[in-house]
Amino acid sequence: MNKNNIFHHRHILCVILIGITLSCAPYTAAHATEQATQNAPAQKQENAAFKPLFNAESMTLDNGMQVIAIPNHRIPVVTHMVWYKTGGADEQRGKTGVAHLLEHMMFKGSENVPPGEFSKIIKTMGGNDNAFTSLDYTAYFQSVSTDHLKDVMTMEADRMRGLLLPENHVLSERDVVIEERRQVTENDAQAHFAEHLNAVLFLNHRYGRPVIGWMQEIENIDRNDLQTFHDTYYAPNNAILIVSGDITLDTLKPLAEEIYGTLPRKDIPPRTWRAVPDMVGTVNMVHHDARVRQTSALHMMRAPSFRQDRTAALALQLIENILSDGAASRLYKKLVVENKMASSVSFSYSGAYWSNGRIWFAATPLDGVDPAGIIAAYREELLNVVDGDITDTELQDAKTRLIDRAVFARDSLSGPAMIVGRALVTGSTLDDVEYWARDLNAITQDDIRKAAQNYLDPRTHAGITGFLYPEDSVNEDAPEHITEKSSQQATEQVIEQVTEQATKQEEEQ
Ligand SMILES: [Zn+2]
Repeated sequence: MNKNNIFHHRHILCVILIGITLSCAPYTAAHATEQATQNAPAQKQENAAFKPLFNAESMTLDNGMQVIAIPNHRIPVVTHMVWYKTGGADEQRGKTGVAHLLEHMMFKGSENVPPGEFSKIIKTMGGNDNAFTSLDYTAYFQSVSTDHLKDVMTMEADRMRGLLLPENHVLSERDVVIEERRQVTENDAQAHFAEHLNAVLFLNHRYGRPVIGWMQEIENIDRNDLQTFHDTYYAPNNAILIVSGDITLDTLKPLAEEIYGTLPRKDIPPRTWRAVPDMVGTVNMVHHDARVRQTSALHMMRAPSFRQDRTAALALQLIENILSDGAASRLYKKLVVENKMASSVSFSYSGAYWSNGRIWFAATPLDGVDPAGIIAAYREELLNVVDGDITDTELQDAKTRLIDRAVFARDSLSGPAMIVGRALVTGSTLDDVEYWARDLNAITQDDIRKAAQNYLDPRTHAGITGFLYPEDSVNEDAPEHITEKSSQQATEQVIEQVTEQATKQEEEQ
């Protein structure tokens, strides 16, 4: 399922990228030093723990392009990335898919790089390259030995300056994307269903559209659409250059000035996006599909992004971890181990967005289990969090787990560039990334309660429920419980139970 709404030029790196960005952006790892000073006085320990993670160095060229170096000199290799602060959400209404098709066309020739040659040249250098498009951003990257850095920068700048967009390649690449949409979305029942849940969740908002585009609109994209999008958004002042690995800013600066510094800045249209309207009513979507083997129970909610509410976003990262990180997590214990309702369960919060973030819940019911019961049990777990029943130990353990895990990000070559890039193009600052561990560690029980009350309470915070069934269950299994009324009754029942419990506890005190 494309929870992240990211489409790749090629799909090899998909898993790696999602592993980095899905559950952990912005991701830092100051914990290594914390471990080393565990027996030191508290003050010293605190300072050591909150050193900047990546020691990234930043500057801005005269034409407005931000340049970042993330040094790691273990091997003579660099990852070179250019992140554009534009993606599917910037497309005009009726023109979905333009940002992503343009990403494909970036490999089809610019003044000094013939069509189809870009990746071949990188290969002959012994490197690899890729690109991806999301709602908010589009990024291109190459990993090569340090002595090829200048060459890849030159090629990247060439396609930032302008594209050939040969008509025959536009048409053939459009067919490639049409096929990509079939494979990635339409032939995958869950992804296809999720696309529709998302469209309803973000009704009349740019995030309601699929990054790859609606089929009817992809089919009508022409050369002019691509040219216009490139002319409008591909400019140095709308891009961030990040080089990680065997590099320092001192070495990078003259190269960046020489190669990217000569590109003219453009007036980028401001993102005057309308806020997403409040949801009205309870939405349950039901779909039966012959390709589905197992029933799924799904639930989606809007959530704040890091840019919108950083404290809540950090709190939600911790709540996500407590609810669904591993076999000891709350949802797994409740739904899989204790209640034996589901064979798998997941809850993920994504906050690296320019506009709203989102929360996803998905579970696979065991045979004979009512999926509406799973949604009710999930809501009950959310209500427990809203009621403030996360213990201090749980909170501390989640902080430790997240910060520990982030240590690994520092050691990879392209990981730091991915993390820093994604955070910056979605409105976070470099300091937000460097001091993420400090800020996560500072989240209090109060912050957790507030975030839960504001964004997770199923009584006040509407979401979308989806039930995806195998085709053969249409008649026997299409039960009453999936009707809006009974689902709502189930929720109300849970709410009643929980309120009752709360009242009881109060009385006991
Ligand atoms: Zn693609």
